[in-house]
Amino acid sequence: MYREGRGAVKAIVLGGGVIGVCTAYYLAKAGHEVAVIERQPEAGCETTFANGGLIAVGHAATWAEPSAPLMLLKSLWQADSAIRFRPSLDPALWAWGLRFLANCTAQRYRVNTLRNLRLSKYSHEVMAALREETQIPYDEATKGILYVYRDPARLEHSAKAWALVRDHGVAVEVKSAAESVRIEPALAPASDKFVGAIYSPSDESGDACMFTRHLAKLCEGLGVRFTYGASISGLKANAEAVESVVTDKGEFVADNYVLAAGSYSPSIARSIGVRLPIYPIKGYSVTVPIGGRQGAPTVGVIDESTRVAFVRLGERLRLAGIAEFSGYDTSYKPRDFGTMFKAAKELFPDGGDYDRPEFWACLRPMTPDGPPIMGRGRHRNLYFNIGHGHLGWTMGCGAGRVIADLIAGRRPGIDLDGLTIDRF
Ligand SMILES: Cc1cc2nc3c(=O)[nH]c(=O)nc-3n(C[C@H](O)[C@H](O)[C@H](O)COP(=O)(O)OP(=O)(O)OC[C@H]3O[C@@H](n4cnc5c(N)ncnc54)[C@H](O)[C@@H]3O)c2cc1C
Repeated sequence: MYREGRGAVKAIVLGGGVIGVCTAYYLAKAGHEVAVIERQPEAGCETTFANGGLIAVGHAATWAEPSAPLMLLKSLWQADSAIRFRPSLDPALWAWGLRFLANCTAQRYRVNTLRNLRLSKYSHEVMAALREETQIPYDEATKGILYVYRDPARLEHSAKAWALVRDHGVAVEVKSAAESVRIEPALAPASDKFVGAIYSPSDESGDACMFTRHLAKLCEGLGVRFTYGASISGLKANAEAVESVVTDKGEFVADNYVLAAGSYSPSIARSIGVRLPIYPIKGYSVTVPIGGRQGAPTVGVIDESTRVAFVRLGERLRLAGIAEFSGYDTSYKPRDFGTMFKAAKELFPDGGDYDRPEFWACLRPMTPDGPPIMGRGRHRNLYFNIGHGHLGWTMGCGAGRVIADLIAGRRPGIDLDGLTIDRF
């Protein structure tokens, strides 16, 4: 049996995405001995790698909402829809899907959105403090996000729905198309394509992978040991506690374990009989060089009709979106990005060099109700930091800090009611 370092480390973090690295950082800051196990050659290579980049506190709404069942149904015959649902015989999809549908009521939507919002708001504060303290570079922008609408009825309907986050402390303003162009002049050529927007001025954006890799370096400076290229096959545990992590590079032992393996967490937990209600929902992104063009946005933008997100990352423009149910498949073809390019050329015709795309696809670790799973289950030394779905970048710093506080025996900065495994 391989024992990390001189003795058992205080905590092993399983997974080196944004969630795992943030957890490791706050544990190390609290003075703990920490190790991270990651199968890739460096941090942030999987879902964190090329996500939409939006720190979207204003967009903390869960996907399980009253109109979601109809959207899923319509997607069955709309090939180019932002949602791509193809029923399969996968029992995990059906088990997850039934729970998802049960959460598509107005009352559950409200409860679940407020749970997401609680963590997202907290994370925003924690991230601002970290940025201030470390000056960590990640091509960040702090000019807000414009959620752009092409249909007046949808804008009106959404403005009412957004009142929920506004009533809970997030600045949200409804803007006309002309006002939106004043906020983001790059939308000027498309001012006849949309009717208005909802502007969330405190939202931000940045490159989650760049952030994660810089934070991993800061972690190393604090003594965190990263073991890359080690694939975790499972855990060993007795009835009360986890005893070790089993990998193809040997077994690792610690006092505490933090599961932060994104969409792959359920298979690791299953090795000790723990079932986690997380299903992978595939998303796509494409990144192009701006290449001196003048029409790229400097504010984050989401086209609410096509559900394509646009984010400027330094001298790159990233487009991201699509929710596809295709299990653990992360493959992609150029034609998968047709809707994104169409939306980009409509809203930002001079936004970037669309002929030099870098394509990518990965899996959002989604719970059926929306909020992540944090805290402990039945094993006293196993902490979950999983299931952040479409908001893992938004929630990363806060989620990491919460778990570090729990392990240190400190009261976390937010109430964890509704954010633990107990709700399932
Ligand atoms: C297209 C797209 C757009 C998105 N846009 C946004 C956005 O704009 N804003 C936002 O807040 N969120 C966004 N998200 C969601 C966000 O990217 C995720 O919630 C977040 O990256 C999850 O982080 P994670 O650390 O849990 O997972 P990951 O980044 O996947 O990290 C998990 C790590 O665990 C490792 N691992 C897994 N299994 C094993 C194993 N068996 N052994 C060893 N290592 C293992 C993996 O290699 C990986 O590095 C988007 C997601 C997608 C797909």
